[in-house]
Amino acid sequence: MMEGILLEEALKLILDRVHIITDTVNTEVSEAGGCILAEDVYSPLDNPPFPRSPVDGYAVRAGDIKEADQEHPAELKVAGCIYAGDNGQSCSLKPGEAYRIMTGAPFPAGADTAVKQEDTDFGEDRVKIYKSQKSYDNYCFQGEDYKKGRLLLKKGTRLTFAEQGILSGIGYTEIPVFRKPAVRVFTTGDELCPPGRPLKPGKIYDSNGMMVSSRLRELGILPKSVLHQPDSEEELAEALQEAAKDADVILTTGGVSVGKKDILHGALKKLGAEKVFWRIRLQPGMPTILSVYQDTCILSLSGNPFGAMANLELLFRPMLAKMTGDETCLMEKRQGIMEGDFQKKSRVRRFVRAVYKDGSVSFPQGIYSSGAIGTLRGCNCLLDIPAGTEGIKGGEKVTVWML
Ligand code: AMP
Ligand code: MG
Repeated sequence: MMEGILLEEALKLILDRVHIITDTVNTEVSEAGGCILAEDVYSPLDNPPFPRSPVDGYAVRAGDIKEADQEHPAELKVAGCIYAGDNGQSCSLKPGEAYRIMTGAPFPAGADTAVKQEDTDFGEDRVKIYKSQKSYDNYCFQGEDYKKGRLLLKKGTRLTFAEQGILSGIGYTEIPVFRKPAVRVFTTGDELCPPGRPLKPGKIYDSNGMMVSSRLRELGILPKSVLHQPDSEEELAEALQEAAKDADVILTTGGVSVGKKDILHGALKKLGAEKVFWRIRLQPGMPTILSVYQDTCILSLSGNPFGAMANLELLFRPMLAKMTGDETCLMEKRQGIMEGDFQKKSRVRRFVRAVYKDGSVSFPQGIYSSGAIGTLRGCNCLLDIPAGTEGIKGGEKVTVWML
């Protein structure tokens, strides 16, 4: 009997237990990148708000230049000049006249096309036009980008520079977005030394704290705290209780296996958290625990840095998608062709760090055990190796999950 549940079962339990964040906050549009829009946005205006010229040239009536060509230019009186920003619509173009007009400037009433200055003699008082044009050639219509009242952005949209530009383009400075998930991170282990301090015998520097919190930032979440805990069940239980007061999710690393200092089990028990699952049939990250305390999900990842990192990708990203309703944070799956062999047998499903490029999948040079992170550099995916495979041969079709 193999212990643990399947990854799919773990994901289902995670999605069942993680709550959707519904509270909203008003945010400056400039700060809203990566936030999820909390209401539909309708355009309050036509954009552009007036018909405008897309070229530098002369605004005319198409009817006045119908017969114009190089040999027989149409000659029109220049009634004035309209720059971008001028109130051009207050001007009115009479038959037989032209207005000098610049890109972005409003058309004067009566004009229905703009002739590029290259197709004229650049005349100041009178201008010769060497080309005929149809009505509405070189003409930007009022509201052609978007009309007043149009649904521009749907609630639930993840805001990027494009949406921020659109919001700014309709005059918004603030926008309601969903509150971002509050995440607190704990690393555990008496062997851990914070970077910056001298390393004593038997100790190692903490890499998970940095790796997990930096990855959270890359996923758009600024963790509320990243703290280290010694291997004490009591102290960890207390720290988790405090953290659960305002965290939607607590991430821990280390102490989840079956060793004598694997304190998460005891700490969660002392806390009174409900254990939803322990152990996934997965390599790395087999001993992962999901528990729930009050309304906070506690995802306890392996201490092995690659295990922690791989399970953060596989398990936390779906959590994030559920909390925010934004599926763009899920891992994209791609098919590729294996370059070179993977020799190891996989009793359970295995995820191996790899590099995907132009349809081929390769491994980094060096060791890639769960405790080693030197080869993480440059990797952009996890290769998904099904349970029960003897190994993978070069040329085989494989699936990767993009980081
Ligand atoms: P554990 O899950 O606590 O048994 O830890 C498994 C392995 O990961 C051990 O070799 C730990 O020393 C190592 N480890 C645990 N936490 C960290 C961390 N924050 N940074 C680097 N290595 C860690
Ligand atoms: Mg430990």
